[in-house]
Amino acid sequence: SIMPATLAAISNGAKNGILFKGGIHLENISEMRAIALDKTGTLTQGKPVVTDFFVREGLDRMSTLTTLAAMEAQSNHPLAQAISLYARSEGIGQLPLIHIEDKPGFGLQATINDQTILVGKPDFVNKEDAFTFHDGIATKLADEGKTIIFMRDEFGIAAAAALKDTVREEAKEAIKLLQSLGIKTVMLTGDNEKTASVIAKEAGIDQYIAECLPETKVEHMKVLLKEYKFVGMVGDGINDAPALATATTGFAMGEGTDVALETADVVLMKSDLSKIAYAIKMSRKMQRIVK
Ligand code: ADP
Ligand code: MG
Repeated sequence: SIMPATLAAISNGAKNGILFKGGIHLENISEMRAIALDKTGTLTQGKPVVTDFFVREGLDRMSTLTTLAAMEAQSNHPLAQAISLYARSEGIGQLPLIHIEDKPGFGLQATINDQTILVGKPDFVNKEDAFTFHDGIATKLADEGKTIIFMRDEFGIAAAAALKDTVREEAKEAIKLLQSLGIKTVMLTGDNEKTASVIAKEAGIDQYIAECLPETKVEHMKVLLKEYKFVGMVGDGINDAPALATATTGFAMGEGTDVALETADVVLMKSDLSKIAYAIKMSRKMQRIVK
């Protein structure tokens, strides 16, 4: 049967925007020594905005942007929505219907007039070409903490778009609180190394691992579990679900995808990261009462 102290803690959590899907998670959280956090939508607001757009010399800027936006219109990735908004702000209205293949963790692929078009991260379009495009503009943009997506046609890189996401207002303080509780913080992201390092620094995270695929997030989680035994994972996306399920305790952002919300053990109802430290403090106090 459930202990009165556990019930009180669950109810206190609910009042404070923390939904525990069972008392066992309170016990586990009290033992937590490390926590992994996804970047996009978790440490950041997940609402990126296009700040720069470059096309290859000789290509028409508007028609290239139209193709890019038409491909992204078929995706529900946060980056895709940002591209759509940007295209509209540039005056692009009706978009042609393009059939795409979604490559989770990489980007999108389409065949247009018998040409294969790739849209996505450097590794997906050819890393070397991506970083030499436009005199290496990608390096400068990544130094600014921006995510860059590339478009490739059969002649090489056709375009690059830089997107800037904002670190959540409470993220820095939330990480500090966790560290003060003796918890190691690790950021896991599918984004490139340079952008990841800038965001990790901004948020004050102890360690980061960039260029993760959903399955590599799981691999890193397993490594953390070996070292720290009780490990949390915070995420919002479909691609975080496997890692949320692998962690001792999975935390979903309340504004996250259904899959993340269902897979997690704890839901941060207002997507407020500082509630994690609150939950840990509360669970440690509860364990002292129970024991
Ligand atoms: P994260 O772990 O940061 O949430 P994802 O695993 O969703 O990132 O994606 C990793 C990278 O793959 C993105 O940074 C982006 O470069 C590329 N990517 C994924 N989906 C898309 C898309 N729809 N359009 C363009 N690029 C994409
Ligand atoms: Mg995410």
